[in-house]
Amino acid sequence: MQSATVQIEPGALKEMEPNVIKYQYEEIIKHLLLLQDHAAARTCPYTPTGEMCIRKHLIAIEAYAEETIPIEDDPTYREKLERLETEARSYRLDQEAVLCGEKTQLLEGLDHWARKQRKEFELRALPCVLRPSGPAEGR
Ligand SMILES: [Zn+2]
Repeated sequence: MQSATVQIEPGALKEMEPNVIKYQYEEIIKHLLLLQDHAAARTCPYTPTGEMCIRKHLIAIEAYAEETIPIEDDPTYREKLERLETEARSYRLDQEAVLCGEKTQLLEGLDHWARKQRKEFELRALPCVLRPSGPAEGR
């Protein structure tokens, strides 16, 4: 009987990974961008209060970070993703505490955090590697 499982040739996953990785980082960056805008404006275009949308972006960031860690080869980026996941979760739990009336004030600086995190990952979503033009390059 034929198995329904698709057999992947050894090495094929490696060739597929750059696109998968690119997609994952694009999703992370998209949600960080929206989070930054919506946290700064305290509104969201498609919800009445905005708070639920911020929670949604945070959950998405958490989920994409978690999902990307095992397919990321670079230990530096794995660490960045782990930090992103942990911090997104704590902002999300803070958001929930406010939504549920357990506290009144949100943690400050969510928009700045989103911007800083986006800067960490922006280059990773490019299909090429940019060469730094520092003193090492002679200019
Ligand atoms: Zn939003």
